[in-house]
Order: sequence, then structure tokens, then C-alpha cells
Amino acid sequence: MSVMLLSTSTKNLQYLQGVGPQLARLFEAKNIISIEDLLNFSPRTYEDRRNLTTFKELEVGMRQTSKGIISSVRIIPLRKRSLKILECLVTDESSSISLKWFHFKPDSMKKMLTPGRAIVFSGEVQEYRNRKHIVHPDFEIEDATNHNSLHFGRIIPIYSITEGLYQKTIRKIIKNALNVSLSKLEDPLPQSILQKYKLISLKDAYQEIHFPHSSSDFEKTILGYGEGRRRLVFDDFFFFELGLALRKFKIKNSKAVKLKVTHSFLDAFSKDIPFELTTCQKKAIVDILDDVSSGKPMNRLLQGDVGSGKTLVAIAATLLALHNNIQTAIMAPTEILAEQHFKSFQSFLSLFDKKLSLSVRLLTSSLPQTEKTLIKKEIQQNIATVLIGTHAVLCENVQFSKLGLMIIDEQHRFGVHQRLVLKEKSYIPHTLVMTATPIPRTLALTAYGELDVSVMKEMPKGRKAIKTKLLHEEQKPKLYQFILKQLEAKRQIYCVYPLIEESETLDLKDATQGAEKLNKIFQRFKVTLLHGKMKAEEKNAIMQDFKNNKIHILVSTTVVEVGVDVPNATIMVIEHAERFGLSQLHQLRGRVGRSDLQSYCFLLVDKKVFVKDSWAALERLKTMEKTIDGFEIAQADLRIRGEGEILGTKQAGFLNFRFASLVKDQRVLGVARKEAFQLVLKDPTLSHPENKKLKEHFEKKWSHKFSMMEGN
Ligand code: ADP
Ligand code: MG
Repeated sequence: MSVMLLSTSTKNLQYLQGVGPQLARLFEAKNIISIEDLLNFSPRTYEDRRNLTTFKELEVGMRQTSKGIISSVRIIPLRKRSLKILECLVTDESSSISLKWFHFKPDSMKKMLTPGRAIVFSGEVQEYRNRKHIVHPDFEIEDATNHNSLHFGRIIPIYSITEGLYQKTIRKIIKNALNVSLSKLEDPLPQSILQKYKLISLKDAYQEIHFPHSSSDFEKTILGYGEGRRRLVFDDFFFFELGLALRKFKIKNSKAVKLKVTHSFLDAFSKDIPFELTTCQKKAIVDILDDVSSGKPMNRLLQGDVGSGKTLVAIAATLLALHNNIQTAIMAPTEILAEQHFKSFQSFLSLFDKKLSLSVRLLTSSLPQTEKTLIKKEIQQNIATVLIGTHAVLCENVQFSKLGLMIIDEQHRFGVHQRLVLKEKSYIPHTLVMTATPIPRTLALTAYGELDVSVMKEMPKGRKAIKTKLLHEEQKPKLYQFILKQLEAKRQIYCVYPLIEESETLDLKDATQGAEKLNKIFQRFKVTLLHGKMKAEEKNAIMQDFKNNKIHILVSTTVVEVGVDVPNATIMVIEHAERFGLSQLHQLRGRVGRSDLQSYCFLLVDKKVFVKDSWAALERLKTMEKTIDGFEIAQADLRIRGEGEILGTKQAGFLNFRFASLVKDQRVLGVARKEAFQLVLKDPTLSHPENKKLKEHFEKKWSHKFSMMEGN
């Protein structure tokens, strides 16, 4: 999406030499519409074709580049009538090798591959009956005019291709694009920053990322640490952070309701709840008290591992809002969670004052229209003061009378937080975002935009580490004996089946059969199936029964993944664990171990995973046996699966960068963030003359990313 937006102001690809409508369409399929998109089309990898290998030295199994003289060309029919091979024999002083094609246009190939001409080629060397050959090599016929080849004699870029688009074509077109645009390219970064971090100019960076200089370090280039990429990654992060800094500054300088906080608030709160607050919970509450009493809007992220007790912190904030006669909106990611929050808020708030629970409302899409209307009216008239619902429902025209606090419980979904529509636009509500995603600080700061962060690393007192074990199908009978003992001790069990989006019905079948089977095995107990396609009321009723221990085994698809809190459940069984990411497994496991009872997590894995050749998959899952620390698991997941797994793909482009990777380039992110924030601190409106180019560049290329954050 960002690519499309960028291109509206820049020249269309079709104006570029060598690009006709057909090629333009192929590029468009890759979201490349303008010349600028083309410059930003980062090579997937590179190949070092600076040095030629003699034929004798060619190593089987390696991709190598060589040069020789064509000695003969022939087309060999295969036994299957329709298939033919084109074979070209090439020799150099040391030996000979054959180049083979299975797909070719006979006429044009024969014309090109004239015996006697010199050919440079590159590809994976293979061996058959002691003779070396290369199938479908990249090649170029040498003649007097192509001394400055784009494809040989240099480090060459390899792009990700689409059917019909060839590497050579892309290289040629990108070369043209560089030729027409680099001379006009202005460098938006201030000299001082370029010098401080020894960054090369933007022009050189584009040149370098596509066609690295012959003296460039190939290892660095291929690992993504070349000078060209470093500069472009810096730009990605710098301008992004600049946007965040500008926005943070703007929010910090707008008005918010200044809440009155008494000294004794925290003590009084601690006294009335049935357990002792953890040090982290206290610290987070103090952070919030400082924020909301400052007169400036709070913008805080509460980052705490699953089970660390974030809800209670949110309840403290809500209680304070109630004391100050302002309204609170609480947004939950699912209806089940909204319902659960509704119950916890009601019961906790009534500990302080029985009447307070009467001010809480739950708004969900499954409510009858008349009730919805009534609740909206009560909110509008300030009869109700705390409103809980899913993001979707609360964002759709609820008019608050005095909304002063917004709590977003989003577990592990990142992104732009849509602000609620306020009648009164002269002030901004205080915002608290809660997440269980354990990611490093810089990354959290960026992924969550302009927020300040409170981290809760500690679990409530008396929690025992969840015991985790990998099991395979044949170990199930033993597992069932164990489950039976727990059931007899009045404990409850979750059993989760993966949900693969493409085939929801298939998975549902798995879960349904699983439930039937468990029903037969544990006849004295109640086994119930819960899945995503059920109606909201049905789901809520099941969750309620599970919470009240009327259901003993809850079999479900991944709907229980986020936030569900049933402290009496002590066993989590995850079927086909190999199909889940580690972070997801961690979330699921976090459904147990929520009291002082010993809890267990059993990961059932396909027997295939236990065989030697899939040790990587096993190794990955073993991380779960080794640790219950979300940060450690996230690190392992980052290493193994990359940022997609952690950050999710729901970003709609917000965190998609042209060159930068949030995980790989964290160090650059750190410095870019520092520089951008310092710059905005000195020049909050970017009006100093030396920031003129920078401001123009930001407004033209980057500001659209942030305009959608404004919400209304
Ligand atoms: P999460 O951070 O995953 O949202 P919850 O807020 O759902 O965690 O809390 C998990 C469980 O721990 C809940 O049952 C909650 O009532 C309980 N809890 C929260 N704080 C404490 C505490 N300080 N001591 C003991 N139990 C707590
Ligand atoms: Mg929670």
C-alpha cells in the first residue's frame, strides 16, 4: 500500500525507456508502478561474478561464473516425443563443459549461440557420468560492445521475479531508472547526520544497492550490511521515527483532563483487593498516576507477559477515572474477552464501592438493537461511565459525554490505534495500551508508535512455573491417565487444535473429532467444543460454564488464544503443536498457571518431528520445554521465523519498510530514533532553514503513514 501511495506523485514506469505496457503490467503485479518504486525494489540477494573460474576448477554443487568459446550446438530429441534438449558445448584452455536448456526457442537460441563466439555464463554446476554441465545458465554472448556488462564481471543483483520477468530485464530497466533519476535526486538528510554516521549519499546508496561497486565487500553486501543498504535503512527508520516524534510532540502539547490523584490512592487500592500487588503492578500504576495528573495526555504502553496481571492495572486506572467523574472506554480484541473484562471490572470495582459496578456497560455486536441504543444513550448522557466492547463496536459511532480514559487491550496485535470519535475536540483522552508481546524495548517503542512504556516482568506471588512436555501420539494413553487424576482433583483442561485459515472446515473436523473422542474417554466429565464460527452468545455461554467449572474439558480451535482467564484450569494440551509459532504457543500456554496450582502444558507433535531429519522443528519446540520467559521465547522466534511471526501481518503497511527490517536492523533503529527525536526536540515544527529539505521530503513521502493515525 505504501508503495502505491508513494508513486502517485512520481513518474509512471511506462515513460521509462524499455518498458512497454506488457512489462509495466508485470511490474505492477509486484506493486512497482513508478520509477521511484523501481529504485526502491530491493534485490533479494547478490551473486559475485567479478572473478571467472576456469572449467577445470568448477566445483559441482556451487553457483559459479565462467567464460569460454562455443564449440558446438545441437538439439537432442528425448525419448518422450515432445521433449528436446538444447546442448551447447563450451571450451576454455583447461577443459570443456556443456550448457543445457529444456525450455528454449530453437531459432533465436541457435542464432545467438554461434560456434566460435565467446560466452560468459553462470549457474549451478552439476555432474552426470563424470561430465560437468549447467542447466539453464544465465549467459551473455561477448562482443565488442558489451564491455560494461550489467550481468557479468561484477557483483550482480538478484531480484525476486514473477513469471515473465527475467533478471536480465529487471537489471536493464533498473539501470535505466537509475540513469534518468539519480542526477535529479536531492539528499534530504542534514550533512551533520551523514557525517556523524558516515552515511553515503542517497544517490550513491541507490547505485550501490542495485549495482555494488567492484571494490565492495561481497560478504557484507550479501548479508545486507553493505554501505548502500545501511544508508537506505537509516532513511527508512529516520523518517518513520521523525513522524512518531512529531506526533508525540503534538500530543504532549495538547490538553487532557488533569486528574486529581490523592497520595493514598495506591494504598487504598492495594488494601481493598484480595491479593498483594506485584512490585511491577505498583510501579505501572504509579507511572499511570503521574501521567494522568500532568494535564497532558497519557500515552502509555503496558507491556507484560501473559498472566502478569495487566487487567488489575487497568482497573486501577479506571477507578481513578471514576473518582474524577470522567468516562472510560475499554477495547478488547474479541467478544469473549470483552465479556470477561466486563465481569472482572464489575466485580473488582464493587470491592471499592458497590455502586460503581452499576456504571459499567458491555456493548457487543450481538446485543439486540434496542439494548445497543439504550447503552449508547446512557453513555451519551453520562449515566453510564465505563464502556467495554470490541474495537470494532466502540469505534462505530458511540458518542461519549466525557471520555477521559481509553484502555486498549490488544494482547499481541500491533498497529495503529484508532482513536475514538470525540464530541469535544479540544482535549485528548488519556490512553493506555496493554500488550503481552514480549519484544525488545526499541522495537516496542517503534511498533507502538508514540507511546511511553511500562514493563511488567514479574508474575504474581505464589505462581509455579508451568511444566511443559513434548509428546507424540503413542504417549497419549499416559497423558489421559494424568488428565484423569487432575479432573478428579477438580481441575480443568484446555485442549487446543490449530486453525489454519485456508481450511477452517478441515480443522474444525479435527477439533470436533477430538472432542468426541475425549467425551468417550472421560465419560464422567463434561467435554465441550468451542470454535470461531459459533455465535457470540453461544461462545460466551460456554466460556461462562467453563469459568464456573460446569465444563471440565474445553476443546477448542485457537479462539482461546488471547486473554482468557480461568485460574482453575491447570492443563493445556496443544494438538499439532508443530503447526504453531512459538509466540503463539506461549500465548496458549499462558492460559494455565494463573493461580498457585501447579500447571502443565503438553505439546503433541507429529511423530515425524521426532525423526532425525527434522531436528530443526524439534529444536524449535524444545524451546518451550526449556523456558517460560516470554522474552526468551520471542528472541528464539525472531531467530527462527523472523519478524513476521512476532509482529503479525495485520499492520496494513504501517510497519512495512522499503529496506529496513525491524529485527535485523535494530541497532540502526536505535540511532535513527535518537537522532529523529533530538531533531524534533530542537525544531518541533521543522522550520529551521537547514531542515527545509528534510521537511519537504517527509511531507511528500512519509506523512501519509501518519495521517491515518489521527483516526478522525
Ligand atoms: P494478563 O496480564 O495476561 O492480562 P490477567 O490480568 O488476566 O493477566 O491476570 C491473570 C490472573 O492473575 C487473573 O486471574 C488475576 O486476577 C490474577 N492476578 C492479577 N494480579 C495478581 C496479583 N498481584 N496476585 C495474584 N493474582 C493476581
Ligand atoms: Mg489480559
